Amino acid sequence: MSEQAPPPPERAPASPAPQPETQAPPQQQRANGGRDGVILEVTDIHTYYGSIHALKGISLQVREGEIVTLIGANGAGKSTTLRSINGLNNPRKGRIVFQGKDITNDPAHSIVKMGISQSPEGRRLFPHMSVLENLEMGAFQRTDRQNFKEDLDRVYALFPRLAERKTQRAGTLSGGEQQMVAMGRALMARPKLVMLDEPSMGLAPIFVERIFEIVKEINQQGTPILLVEQNALMALDVAHRGYVMETGHIALTDDAKALAKNEQVQKAYLGMD
Ligand code: ATP
Repeated sequence: MSEQAPPPPERAPASPAPQPETQAPPQQQRANGGRDGVILEVTDIHTYYGSIHALKGISLQVREGEIVTLIGANGAGKSTTLRSINGLNNPRKGRIVFQGKDITNDPAHSIVKMGISQSPEGRRLFPHMSVLENLEMGAFQRTDRQNFKEDLDRVYALFPRLAERKTQRAGTLSGGEQQMVAMGRALMARPKLVMLDEPSMGLAPIFVERIFEIVKEINQQGTPILLVEQNALMALDVAHRGYVMETGHIALTDDAKALAKNEQVQKAYLGMD
């Protein structure tokens, strides 16, 4: 077992400055991880919407300690990849293994129960319910209710704004605050893997910075993250590794820093010539 667990990046919590370095994740074998700490292994999955062949052989891995990002243009298949993993659209071919267990054909509720939780694109909050009630919904599948208070405190520590607004109806929050509720709700399930679908979508720049800081913080507290983003620059800045998707395929994969320097990626996704 190697001892490569990195120290957390040096960073003032309130500073919005982007981090210069992404840390290499721990590569060791963990109690719940598989080979080389692999917690999620997706192998050659093919997923359809009726006759539309949306994913044409996607393979990816997430290891303990990692932030892995999936970037790519609209319609490339990023959300469908998450839907295949979370059981909302099971693949017709291929295999998905989570913590050593084949979950390829499992329904969504058992996948949540196993410890994969998602903050969906568009947030999907219950707008007429309070912030607190929305957060409670994230914990409804849990049997260890005694830890509820501890988890709520953790969410409020990550998002102090939510503590201030716990009785406010979610539908009346700003976009950035709603994103915080969606992420907080995902964390209330005490997940072993968090999947975030476009957490920065539609947010003002100040909130975008904050959301990515919090993504890092959640990861540093020990939760691996699979992050789907259109904001490739920010995603590659916080991630350890990345996959570039194009029309149902993985076009490129590498560590995040190398992808950010890749000419093809810079031209297509980072707005550089
Ligand atoms: P975006 O960032 O725009 O959400 P994406 O990379 O997440 O893009 P997906 O939403 O996964 O892409 O879409 C992949 C492909 O599947 C696209 O061709 C899309 O048109 C198709 N698709 C997605 N949802 C459906 C659906 N409900 N019915 C039919 N086709 C769909």
